[in-house]
Amino acid sequence: MQERIWLSLAHMGAHEQDFVKEAFDTNWVVPLGPNVDAFERDLAAYLGEDKHVVALSAGTAALHLGLIMLGVGPGDEVICQSFTFAASANPVTYLGATPVFVDSEETTWNMSPELLEKAILDRKAKTGRYPKAIIPVHLYGMPARMDEIEQIAAKYDIPILEDAAEALGSEYKGRKCGTIGAFGGLSFNGNKIITTSGGGALVCPDAASAQRVMFYATQARENRPYYYHEHIGYNYRLSNVCAGIGRGQMMVLEEHVARRRAIHDLYTKLLSGVDGITVKQNPSSDYASNFWLTCIEVDAPRVDCTADDIRLALAEENIESRLLWRPMHMQPVFANHAFYGDGTSERIFGRGLCLPSGSSLTDAQIGAVVEAIVRRVNK
Ligand SMILES: *Cc1c(COP(=O)(O)O)cnc(C)c1O
Repeated sequence: MQERIWLSLAHMGAHEQDFVKEAFDTNWVVPLGPNVDAFERDLAAYLGEDKHVVALSAGTAALHLGLIMLGVGPGDEVICQSFTFAASANPVTYLGATPVFVDSEETTWNMSPELLEKAILDRKAKTGRYPKAIIPVHLYGMPARMDEIEQIAAKYDIPILEDAAEALGSEYKGRKCGTIGAFGGLSFNGNKIITTSGGGALVCPDAASAQRVMFYATQARENRPYYYHEHIGYNYRLSNVCAGIGRGQMMVLEEHVARRRAIHDLYTKLLSGVDGITVKQNPSSDYASNFWLTCIEVDAPRVDCTADDIRLALAEENIESRLLWRPMHMQPVFANHAFYGDGTSERIFGRGLCLPSGSSLTDAQIGAVVEAIVRRVNK
């Protein structure tokens, strides 16, 4: 049997170990330190737009602190894209607030601007208050329809917290994902575009808010000679060892994004002749996905098998693929939360599959994945 082909593996460059070794050599084996500072600078320089970046222990922690910065607290409602990973919505509940879910639209698979506005107006009518924040997600790296989402957010004066965990390197109308909202969350988990083995970052609009985020991430210690606390804090800072990995990964980020895009192009070419299988594309030149994961849509009646049949056939050939994120409004844990939808994410969930897309995969491996799909489809 061929060597296992994974969905998305960590992919190290040449310098990660040097930075980690430096942390050991200088005994900076703590949260905070020169690697953390440099990693934050590298990220801010990459993202541009005068953003300030705080490196954190996870993308989930970044979203949590982003919500705190937007003043979300007990009793508030926060609008969240339903079609996403649970980490987009979970931090809302950490604060005693309630996620309200909004469906996707077909072109990007992300938050529908029309349904967003409907949700805002209906929440206002039902509760007397506007939602406190909006969390759009750039799923699989595909930018959401941010112009329309921003217009609606501005109309009702509700801030945006971008979940850009899957979208480092993606651009919408030339703006980097993560820099568009008031705050933006990034993830460096093991299977993301770049990894620190586990980590995340919050993209902040200015130095003062970044300072405040750091304050909350280091147990909210007031500036006194003894430990003194006026707020509840968290232990969310990134370790200086992990940040060393991140510094090395920043040196190969552009390469990784280029490779993921090339893998997407190759899948598109190789699958173009397969009737009933469509590779998800950028809807127009306004969108530049990093193609973190290449996704296909399976027209089951046409190919006489479902996305899950293809997943199982690939698994038999030692190839890992994954069904799409099951929308939050279809999760038992969020079953009684408000949802504004028209069936779109449910429909996409039923027909989609994520293909192996890691930047270390070879063209031959992509070819093997396509051959396995074609064998199942022609069965
Ligand atoms: C990975 C991910 C997160 C959370 O990031 P962690 O670093 O794993 O905590 C949040 N949202 C989305 C959409 C993700 O894919």
